[in-house]
Amino acid sequence: MPLTVETYPTLSEAARAFAAARAARFMGGGTILMRAVNEADQSFDTLIRTTDRAMTEIRTTGSAVTLGAGVTMASIAASRDTAFLAPVARLIGGPQVRAAATVAGNLFAAAPYGDLTAALMALGATAEMTDGRRQSIDDLIRGGPTRSLVAAVHVPVPQGGLHFRKVSRIKPKGVSVLSVAAVLPRQGGRIENARIVFNGMGARPVRAEAAERALNGQALGASAIAAAAAHAAEGLSPRDDAIATAWYRREVAGVHLRRLLEDIR
Ligand SMILES: Cc1cc2nc3c(=O)[nH]c(=O)nc-3n(C[C@H](O)[C@H](O)[C@H](O)COP(=O)(O)OP(=O)(O)OC[C@H]3O[C@@H](n4cnc5c(N)ncnc54)[C@H](O)[C@@H]3O)c2cc1C
Repeated sequence: MPLTVETYPTLSEAARAFAAARAARFMGGGTILMRAVNEADQSFDTLIRTTDRAMTEIRTTGSAVTLGAGVTMASIAASRDTAFLAPVARLIGGPQVRAAATVAGNLFAAAPYGDLTAALMALGATAEMTDGRRQSIDDLIRGGPTRSLVAAVHVPVPQGGLHFRKVSRIKPKGVSVLSVAAVLPRQGGRIENARIVFNGMGARPVRAEAAERALNGQALGASAIAAAAAHAAEGLSPRDDAIATAWYRREVAGVHLRRLLEDIR
């Protein structure tokens, strides 16, 4: 089947063409999509892309940073405005992948890809769609791909910082066995509204709600850390894949969450 590539000067034109096409994919950096092209994937016949500069802009607005959907991992790693996300971006692929891989592409990457998405969820980021809707990253990826495109991602700058740990068999750049992202706001020394997100512990990045409950209202001491670690995999459904078994992921999730929390303490 022939493949048509359509390039539009603005994102809104690309979005209209995408919504109207029967079998099109929108191309970000293409690090995943081009593999499908090379494997002659028959599920799409059109690639839609845009050269809209707004897609690659990073803007700081008060206490939040807005990332255009096409901002790359390399740009995040290089920008002062995204210093809190740079350690995550640097752990994704090698230099060539980071130069192309985009924020929005990471949102729709199949597990165990999705390391940046886990961090964005922990930060409480929201996605702005081309149809004007704004929704949490959690809701967006739970719903799966849509007929409208992601235009930008709004990321609150974390007060106490973003904490992130990626576990891979090949150091430093292997695909994740799992990764864990945590934001732990504190009031009077006690944790309030903890957000802990695992990548690799399900079909998409997921909140570790049982571990969050174990931490909320507690000081980050030994007993709170032990409780969070004990509940780390509760309610989560990791998959078997070429990197690790679901059993292994369930066994080690608590170990890595404990290590991350001990490093923060
Ligand atoms: C060698 C290698 C190593 C990798 N290592 C990692 C890793 O360590 N961690 C990790 O998380 N990932 C990794 N990846 C996966 C991938 O590179 C990243 O997840 C990347 O962020 C995907 O972005 P992309 O722009 O290249 O996606 P693309 O291939 O362009 O697109 C992926 C999907 O996202 C959709 N999409 C893209 N932009 C939009 C938009 N604006 N709106 C709606 N849908 C959109 C596309 O239609 C497609 O379905 C790796 C890939 C390779 C090849």
